Amino acid sequence: MTTINKVKKVIPDEAIPEVGTKIVNRDGQDYLLVNDAMFTFYQRSMGEFTPFFLGMRDERKILGCRCTKCGIVRVPPLATRCPDCNFAPTELVEVGDVGKMLSTPPITYFASSLFQEQVPSGRGRIVLEGADTALSVNFYTTKGILVPGIVNRGTEMKVVFKDQRVGDITDIFCVPASELTSEQVARKGLLVSEIDWESAAEPDLPQQGPNDRGRFASALAGLRALAGEMNQCERAREDIADWKRNVHVKTAGGQMTMTIDNGDLTFEPGLVGDPDFVAVCADPMVLQEGLAYKGSLTQAMMERRLWISRNPEFTTIFKLERMARSLARSKKV
Ligand SMILES: [Zn+2]
Repeated sequence: MTTINKVKKVIPDEAIPEVGTKIVNRDGQDYLLVNDAMFTFYQRSMGEFTPFFLGMRDERKILGCRCTKCGIVRVPPLATRCPDCNFAPTELVEVGDVGKMLSTPPITYFASSLFQEQVPSGRGRIVLEGADTALSVNFYTTKGILVPGIVNRGTEMKVVFKDQRVGDITDIFCVPASELTSEQVARKGLLVSEIDWESAAEPDLPQQGPNDRGRFASALAGLRALAGEMNQCERAREDIADWKRNVHVKTAGGQMTMTIDNGDLTFEPGLVGDPDFVAVCADPMVLQEGLAYKGSLTQAMMERRLWISRNPEFTTIFKLERMARSLARSKKV
C-alpha cells in the first residue's frame, strides 16, 4: 500500500535517522554509535506583525508603518505607535520592492547545518523606496558564485519572492537590480521562477602565456595523483559518498573535466560530458593547492581566483575541501 503524503514536515523524513546502531572505526579502534532522538517543537505567533507576513505571502507586498503625525515610514512595521511623536498611532502602508544597500554587507560561507544549503548567502540592510528605515534581508547573485564586491553600500537591489511562500521572512530575498532587465526591476512581486539563474557570465581568462600550457599539464598531473590517493582513502571517499557531479574546469593553459562519482574523483583533459557547473580559474594550481590542502578553495573564490557558475554548487567545493583535509589527516601518523 502506498500513501502519498504531500504535507511538508518541519523535519523532513530523510533527515530522520532509522532506529539502530552501527560500528565506526576511527584510528584502529571500534566505536558503537547509537541513533537516538531529542526534539522540541514550538509554535510562535506573529502577533501584530501578521499583516506584514501575510502581505508578503498572499499579495507579494512589503508593508511598512507610517506615523500619522511625523510621517516616518518604518519597515518592517515594528511600531504601532511612533516613539518620536508622543506615541501617535501609525498606519500600514505599502513600500516599494526596490532599494539601496545601507552598508556593504557580509557574506556567509560556513553556516550551521540548518542553513548549509543556503550558503554562500549575503545578509544586508536595504532601504526600500518609500521607507525611512532599513529591512534586514538575505541576498544572492544570479551570475554564479556570490563573492565580496558584487553587492556594496549603495548597490540597488530588487526584492524577489519565492514561488512557494509560507509567511516567513525567508519568503523574500534580494538580487542586484543590475542583473535583471528593467522590465523585471519594474515588475511588482517578481518571482524566483521569473529569473534566469542559469546563464551566469563566465569571467574572461587571460591570453595564454608561454608558461601556461606547461603549468596546466603539471597541475593536471598533480590533480590526477591526488585523486588517485583520495580514491584509496576511506575518509576522503566518504566526503563525496552519494555525490555525482561533472565539472568543466577552464584555465588559461587548457581545459579539464573533474568527475565526482559516489566516492571516486577523476580528472581528464578536455571538456567531457554535460557539466553540472563550470569552474574558471586562470591558474590551475589554485585547484591543485586546494586539493593538496596547501591552500583554500573558498579563500580562492572570495579573492576571485576561482569562479563557479552556480551558487548552490558551493556545496561541492565544500566537499572537495573536506576531501583535502581527510587525505592530509590520513597521512599524519
Ligand atoms: Zn512620528
